[in-house]
Amino acid sequence: MGRRMTVATEVAHIIHQFGCDRSHLLDSAESVQHRAGRNSDEAVAAPAAGFKMHEISLMESVVGLIEDERCRQDFSRVRTIRLRVGMLGHAEPDALRFCFRAVAEGTIAEGAQLEIHMVPGAGRCDQCDVAVPLDERFASCAICGSPIRLTAGDDVKLAELEVD
Ligand SMILES: [Zn+2]
Repeated sequence: MGRRMTVATEVAHIIHQFGCDRSHLLDSAESVQHRAGRNSDEAVAAPAAGFKMHEISLMESVVGLIEDERCRQDFSRVRTIRLRVGMLGHAEPDALRFCFRAVAEGTIAEGAQLEIHMVPGAGRCDQCDVAVPLDERFASCAICGSPIRLTAGDDVKLAELEVD
């Protein structure tokens, strides 16, 4: 059995950035697709259309965090990586898995199992001081009409690692 380590680190806060210059990320996506294509026996299919830059950078952050963790706590192999992924963050599990395989190649995280737990959205009306479930990013309070402040479900966290 592997050793369990709680990490609980926020990978990235997900913010829509349409309109910013993403040409450098496109280059990175092509190279990831190219690298992933070599593993043709892998069961994970490439999300061909609408391949997400977003998921690549998220998974690069995850692998970076794991490498940092190895410097603090000695381990030689990662068995399982547990991620908590907000349902309102537009990060797709299939795309995350695909990107993970590609970016983990040659790192301590290569070959690890990726477990993704989806976290539902939640918010709060500060005027009424009530918590409300959210199924979209932007909502108004049903009682007073104030904007609901998002409190959960739009981020990605590296929750736990199982290591040897
Ligand atoms: Zn309210």
